[in-house]
Amino acid sequence: MGKKKVLIIGAGIAGLSAGSYLQRNGYDTEIFEAHYLPGGVCTAWKRGDYIFDYCVHWLMGTKQGTGFDTIWDELGALKNEKGEPTKICNFEEFSRIELADGDTVHLYADADKLQEELLRIAPEDEKNIRSLIKDLKKLAMVEIPVTTENWKLSDRIRFMVGNSTAFLKMIKYVRMPLGKFAGGWKSPKLQEAFNCIIPSSWSSISLLLGLAKQHVKAAGYPVGGSLPFAHNIEREYLALGGKIHYSSMVEKILVKDDRAVGIKLNNGEEIFGDDIVSAADGYSTLYKMLDGRYLSPQVKKAYEDFSLFPSSVYLGFGVAKDLSDLPHAINLHLSETLILPDDSQHQHISLNVYHFDPTLAPTGKTSVTVLINTWNGDYWKDLAKKDPKAYKEIKSQIAENVLNILDDKFPGFKSAVEVINISTPHTVQRYTGNWHGSYEGFAATPAALMTKLPKEVIGLKNCHMIGHWTEPGGGIPPAALDGRNLARKLCKRDSKQFIGQHTY
Ligand SMILES: Cc1cc2nc3c(=O)[nH]c(=O)nc-3n(C[C@H](O)[C@H](O)[C@H](O)COP(=O)(O)OP(=O)(O)OC[C@H]3O[C@@H](n4cnc5c(N)ncnc54)[C@H](O)[C@@H]3O)c2cc1C
Repeated sequence: MGKKKVLIIGAGIAGLSAGSYLQRNGYDTEIFEAHYLPGGVCTAWKRGDYIFDYCVHWLMGTKQGTGFDTIWDELGALKNEKGEPTKICNFEEFSRIELADGDTVHLYADADKLQEELLRIAPEDEKNIRSLIKDLKKLAMVEIPVTTENWKLSDRIRFMVGNSTAFLKMIKYVRMPLGKFAGGWKSPKLQEAFNCIIPSSWSSISLLLGLAKQHVKAAGYPVGGSLPFAHNIEREYLALGGKIHYSSMVEKILVKDDRAVGIKLNNGEEIFGDDIVSAADGYSTLYKMLDGRYLSPQVKKAYEDFSLFPSSVYLGFGVAKDLSDLPHAINLHLSETLILPDDSQHQHISLNVYHFDPTLAPTGKTSVTVLINTWNGDYWKDLAKKDPKAYKEIKSQIAENVLNILDDKFPGFKSAVEVINISTPHTVQRYTGNWHGSYEGFAATPAALMTKLPKEVIGLKNCHMIGHWTEPGGGIPPAALDGRNLARKLCKRDSKQFIGQHTY
């Protein structure tokens, strides 16, 4: 029998990973991607001499032996075209938070140093701080079971026993909304600090796991950033014989007798295959490509009730200055509330100064980005459509406002800026198709994190869904793991021995 043909929609990290693992397991795959680049939201763009990175700040598995590192090895994600390993940056400080009273909280990577810092800020919370630091150290040891295909029952038991304390801590914080976590401090300063990082309805694990992994240097920043990371996975996939069709927007999933049999592109072309995998936006897959015909009550509820990750107004500044004296990541407090024309209000904006990545700017210069989260994604799409001139003017105005804020904080900043770039939720929608411009799918609320969404379209045979719309909370590692798990599932169905590593 010939090889089974699998058609994959989307060349984000999930789609590329699925392609790579399926190719090495004897499937014939083709990826159809609407954009002209791989990576999806794991991306960056070049303006003048500067690269503005949109995505990766910390990546689980950058340390050997911590779980996801196996996947990065298998996918060739942290190796350039010459086979040289990607340099990993582990920061002394995860980030910094400015408070309303002018004080600054340093979120140190090292848990003991973090403890000292929190005690400095809030001596009245000593008992809780010590208990949090103990929990962080336990969370740091949480291993995510990744390559479990050859596990015997005894391996499972050993894993569960070995990780039970860490998992109990994990469950405690998964269930605890950030608002409750932040509200538990006596110190108004700590309440303010924790409240300004992520929304209060989100699970506190989404902050604490990232922080915990810094303590053991298991989630660093891959130098070069998001796009080289995606290109590395793409290169390995192509070397395995995979094919990617760029600028190929999928409009429909073709169905016969409740079985997915192919796809139709927006130019009318139809392509047929044995399995269809959507690694694209979840809403488009279910409600547009399949016209809402295959919605289980659980999935319908998720799309109707779950809140989403925000979209972003994202600014890039090319600064002709060495800014290595500035913190690499800081949540800036604004003395005056910043009100965007989409009515979102901001007391903090998040600044990243990429002095630690020499690949993003010429020597002596620095790429700087500002992320402003907004949930009003569709405002920007509608404005760009209705009044492109106003859309452009509003973008320039925001850039000017933000530049003035930065110049106030860091005198001399503005005069050194030689490149300005601003993207909006409309940009995210145009280039990645993500629903409302959300940049990580469903938000990491306790309810969403405790829901296991299906990895197939219920009621439709041979149609699979992977990526951040099936994994609330999103992230690069879960997207890559999804691709691997899909290949394992198809191998099992087709009675094949799954291969993770490949040999040419
Ligand atoms: C600002 C920002 C910061 C982040 N920081 C981190 C971080 O520090 N660490 C971390 O682990 N994660 C981070 N993430 C999250 C992470 O990048 C994503 O969750 C992950 O990359 C999602 O991958 P995906 O393949 O599931 O989806 P996507 O990246 O959305 O890929 C989907 C692909 O499908 C394509 N597509 C959509 N519709 C169609 C169609 N109709 N036809 C053909 N193709 C289509 C899109 O163009 C896209 O390429 C961040 C994301 C953002 C935006």
